[in-house]
Order: sequence, then C-alpha cells, then structure tokens
Amino acid sequence: MTAACVIGHRVGYSRSPTLHGYWLRTLGIAGRYDLVDIPQEEFAAFLTALPAHGYVGANVTKPHKQAAFALLDERDAAAGAIGAVNTVWLDGERLIGSNTDVAGFLANLDAQAPGWDAHGGPAVVLGAGGAGRAVVYGLHTRGLDVAVVNRTFARAEALAAHFGAGVTGHPWSQMLSLLADARLLVNATLLGATGQEALAIELSALPESAVVCELNYVPLESELLRAARARGLRAVDGLGMLLHQAVPAFERFFGVRPAVTAELRATLEATLGQAGR
Ligand code: NAP
Repeated sequence: MTAACVIGHRVGYSRSPTLHGYWLRTLGIAGRYDLVDIPQEEFAAFLTALPAHGYVGANVTKPHKQAAFALLDERDAAAGAIGAVNTVWLDGERLIGSNTDVAGFLANLDAQAPGWDAHGGPAVVLGAGGAGRAVVYGLHTRGLDVAVVNRTFARAEALAAHFGAGVTGHPWSQMLSLLADARLLVNATLLGATGQEALAIELSALPESAVVCELNYVPLESELLRAARARGLRAVDGLGMLLHQAVPAFERFFGVRPAVTAELRATLEATLGQAGR
C-alpha cells in the first residue's frame, strides 16, 4: 500500500490527513496518509530515512519547513526562491522538494476570483513570514509589482531585496497610500486569525476592482473578508489555498491528480469549528 504523511511537531490540528484521506477514499486508491509528530532534534534522521519508514513522500509543516529544505538533493524553482518546502518525495534515492503554497495560492485566486489580475496596479501583501514569501514569489512570477507591508519593516525590506525589481518593502504606516491603486490586497499575517489580534485596516481607499484575499482560514469569514464584501469587493478566503496546495502533493505521492470540489470544501469546512488552526 502506498503511504505518505505530514510531518510536524504539535500539529494535531493539521487538516492534511482529512484532505488526503478524502481523495484516497473517493478516488478508490488503496493508500494511507498519516500524521507524524517529530521534534526538531529527530527530524533530519526521520526525513532522510523516509522509505525505511514506509513513505513515498511527505508534507512538511511547522517547525520543519526550513530544515527539510536543507536536507534535499534537489528543489524546484518555488522552493529555491522561498528557502522552505512543504512537500518532499523520492525519485529513486534522491529526495526532492517543492513549495506548493505558491501554486495553491495562485490556483485559489484563479478559482475564486477569475480575472483577478486583469486590472492594473500593484499587489499589496501584508506579512513577510513564510506564507508572505510564498505569496510574493507567486505574484512576482505572474509579473505583478508587489508592495510588502510588515510590522517589522526590516523583514519587508529584506524580502524585497531578495526578489529584486518589482518588489518593494514598506512600514505599516504606508498602508493607506499603497491601497489607493492596488489591484489585490493579501493578508499573510497572523492578524485576524482565531486567538490573534484583530487586523485593523481601512479598505475605503481600495479601487472598486480590487480583490481582497485572506490566508487565514480560522475563522473562515474573517473581519477582513467581511469588510471587503461589505464594500462590494471580491473576497477570497484562505481555505481554498489549503485545498489547492495539496493537489500537486497528492499527485506526487499517489500518481493521480485530484480535484478541488464543493464536496471536499464542505468536508474541510466541517472541521473548522474544531480546535486549532
Ligand atoms: P510566520 O512565518 O510566523 O509570519 C507571521 C507574519 O505575521 C509576520 O509577517 C509577522 O510580522 C506577522 N505578525 C504576527 N503577529 C503580528 C502582529 N501582532 N501585528 C502585525 N503583524 C504580525 O507565519 P506564516 O507561516 O507566514 O503564516 C501566516 C498566516 O498564514 C498564518 O496564520 C497561517 O495559518 C496562514 N497560512 C495559510 C495558508 C493556507 O493554505 N491558507 C498557508 C500558509 C499560511 P513580523 O515579521 O513583524 O513578526
């Protein structure tokens, strides 16, 4: 039986087993997808012995995404640009890794807000952590100018310097002026997630054509999305990114490209009231 897993530490909240389990069941594949909890000091030994543990590949989550990157024999372009991976698999004896958050973020926007990139203007990305990095890289590959706004300005500056032309770093105080001609606003911070501080932001400056995208998915309908809809703007939630980032991973592990369907979404939505994020 083909088996894959998600490897993290204290991530009992992970929705990956539900997600991959749904596809295994509905596609009639005799496979298995486990949740493996490994502390940092044991991670390298586990990952480099993945086949001995019976796995053809794995998703990697907190706190191991950067450690996994360093252990690979080969990384795809997205992983190389971000410096962290969320999906690893074996090609013969070679361990290969990707960061499918990039494809997941873009596929979700394309699905929930078709034509989102048709209007002019830069994208404004709030957050310069791991998710922010994946988002900025994805938008950069689509040819958009990106303004990164972050609480810790130095991190926004460092991210802009990493990607070079087309990406600029800004302090939080410049947000309002940046929104005036933005085609897309993305929240890639923890703000607004359950248990975190609220995201206090005034959306009135955004053009009517702008799309607002949230990465947090607990709660599914964040204050940011509510405010965007109240203004008549198109609003894209974070659950779709979670679903879409799993598609290329499942295909790598089990050899079939699965679909993101309304039934899958409903299955995951039903878990969102439960503990964790
Ligand atoms: P991370 O690496 O820890 O980065 C956190 C970001 O949030 C940083 O930019 C940080 O700013 C900012 N932040 C945290 N507390 C803040 C505060 N009180 N005020 C202002 N900014 C604050 O986390 P991550 O991995 O990028 O994840 C970010 C969010 O995206 C998480 O909630 C995660 O669940 C979500 N996410 C969703 C998906 C999906 O599939 N939908 C995928 C990945 C991530 P500083 O640099 O100043 O600390």
